Amino acid sequence: MSRNKTATLKTITDTVLSYYPDAKIDLLTKAYHFADEAHRGQLRSSGDPYMIHPTEVALQLAELKLDLASIITGLLHDTVEDTGVTREQIEKDFGADVADLVDGVTKLSKITFRTSEEKQAENFRKMILAMAKDIRVILVKLADRLNNMRTLEHLPQHKRQAIAQETLDIYAPIANRLGISWIKIELEDLCLRHLHPDVYYKLAQKVAMKKAERERYIEEVGGILNEKLKEYELHGSVMGRAKHLYSIFKKMERRNVDFDQLYDILAFRIVVDNITECYKALGVIHATYKPVPGRFKDYIAMPKANNYQSLHTTVIGPYGERVEIQIRTQEMQQVAESGIAAHWRYKEGRFSSSAKDNVEWVQRLLEWHKELKDPNEFLDTVKIDLFAEDVFVFTPRGEVKQLPHGAGPLDFAYAVHTDVGHKCVGAKVNGKIVPLKHRLQSGDTIEVVTSPSQTPSKDWLKLVKSSRAKAKIRAFIKEQERNRAADLGEEMFEKGLRQYERTVKSLEKSGEMQKLIQRFSLQTSRDLYVALGYGRISMEAIITEIVPKEDLEKKQAEGRAEDESFMKRVFKAAQRRSEARNAITVANLDDILIRFARCCTPLPGDSIVGFITRGRGVTVHTAACSKAIDNDAERRVEVRWNAAISENKAVKRHVQIRVLSQDEPGLLAEMSTAISSCGVNIASAQIRTTKDKKAWALFDVEVNDISQLQKVQSALEKKRGVISVERVRS
Ligand code: MN
Repeated sequence: MSRNKTATLKTITDTVLSYYPDAKIDLLTKAYHFADEAHRGQLRSSGDPYMIHPTEVALQLAELKLDLASIITGLLHDTVEDTGVTREQIEKDFGADVADLVDGVTKLSKITFRTSEEKQAENFRKMILAMAKDIRVILVKLADRLNNMRTLEHLPQHKRQAIAQETLDIYAPIANRLGISWIKIELEDLCLRHLHPDVYYKLAQKVAMKKAERERYIEEVGGILNEKLKEYELHGSVMGRAKHLYSIFKKMERRNVDFDQLYDILAFRIVVDNITECYKALGVIHATYKPVPGRFKDYIAMPKANNYQSLHTTVIGPYGERVEIQIRTQEMQQVAESGIAAHWRYKEGRFSSSAKDNVEWVQRLLEWHKELKDPNEFLDTVKIDLFAEDVFVFTPRGEVKQLPHGAGPLDFAYAVHTDVGHKCVGAKVNGKIVPLKHRLQSGDTIEVVTSPSQTPSKDWLKLVKSSRAKAKIRAFIKEQERNRAADLGEEMFEKGLRQYERTVKSLEKSGEMQKLIQRFSLQTSRDLYVALGYGRISMEAIITEIVPKEDLEKKQAEGRAEDESFMKRVFKAAQRRSEARNAITVANLDDILIRFARCCTPLPGDSIVGFITRGRGVTVHTAACSKAIDNDAERRVEVRWNAAISENKAVKRHVQIRVLSQDEPGLLAEMSTAISSCGVNIASAQIRTTKDKKAWALFDVEVNDISQLQKVQSALEKKRGVISVERVRS
């Protein structure tokens, strides 16, 4: 689609009026003068006035028959970036639509592509499509890039290489994806010219040298095909053409050969009236020349994602050569040439066709990325967000990371490296410090802030969106939990063995350790400690395995002589633990041993904290307990009361209440009655009087929870003669 027209305000205006007679040309003229003023004095690398570039871009967009806002954007696209013009000024003079478009193009221009890795390039393409929520931004950007590529020879070598590589990696594939094949073809050939000038000029020369030969061949084979079509009453045009240089280059690269045969650079295209005729024409061709098996492709029945439709076949020609043939309708031809741009053409007095093909087109376009949620929404707004579900952000080194929508610094950190994720305390987004809950936007540059003392916590799971980050955090927590259980289990194991004059070493020596591990179907001693720490295996069960029955009985007999037998102590401790375990849930730790601290005797309903205590599992204190406050914060774990606990009343908790009262006869009895009337059992009571005729009473009561205790307290406070009631905390 090269043209001979010189880009001027007049050629733009004429082109627009040719397909859009009602266009507000005043606004276009105003935009032209606005840009001309803004760029005054600036020169292109070629030495030409800068204004030539936006004028060319605008004319290109007019030739694509785009709407007025797109063409005005073409004129203004470099003003914000390169001159003192602000978005506000553009919005005031040309409206929000144009201001948004210019803003979008400016943002895209700021992205510089830094590596040519395949995957990286794909991310960039996606990011660009995601950032340009309005597809017209991409069309303006493509026209901009096309003009820059056409005038690339004025730039120094290294810049030429970089821009050509970026164009080949990013913009040509985008043009292809949008179905605008002529832009793709022209960009690719320009890239080849600047990236591999030797190859380009050699190929161009060879193609030119074979021109006469090619024309003769086209005339011959084209003539035969034309006649055959006529024979079957098919009206179509047959065109033979040389393939574009970049596609010849790729073909040579793929087959690792030098091209020297004519048909390597040739392709025929047959354009007919309708789809039925496409298939008829195919039949005629296959009857004339033998088809090459496996080379037939039906893109009419199954269009490409960019809506390209055509029949492709390869046949054996008159000289035994392979001939590539494409068959399509006029409409398909137009789509193949202009792709998405065709849909914003001015038709029947307005832009954006009502056409349901438009919806279909978009749906197909989106097939390579999930389904479009509401096609009508798209038609209403001409806005398109191909990757609404993702954000694309940069590492400080310019790599692109694709993250789910709503992702934050932690998702990014885990995408970089697991260890970076674990140590992440925050991030700098575009140079500004942000908290972990910050949400990232496409185009952001993220620098992770880490601290060696940081560790993941369960709360992080609420902050992250990516499954990778979630999995890594869960794995860390699980590992940490296992480590704690192992420590605890080891301590319990050593203590338990000591009761029977055994040590880990002695068990290892005798081989009993290995037997024990096998007996519980485990792999290592650490597994045993973990199982013990989690309470999956009891110390009693282990002792039964390694201590002979008679020794056990002997030990029990010795024990009976003492205050309380060992087994009884073990049983009591186990019972206390199981009560505690029913009452409390420890965050991130299943099946761990739990005990209540004696210093503050927490009651269900109290706000509580837990501490890992070596050899004793988790000790639960009230949050206000002074011992808890003194405890090492590193050992702290989150604990909470189980909701069901006060209802099933499985746990009676001892608590002490101190009452100060007048020393009056019968008051102690009255107080006892008050406590009992609340359904609370008194385990013991002490009383002592003072010299000033007051009495201190200390009740040890068994309650279910804090609310029952409060009931008791208020019942006592109501008694005549009672001065104060308080719960005893040490
Ligand atoms: Mn530009």
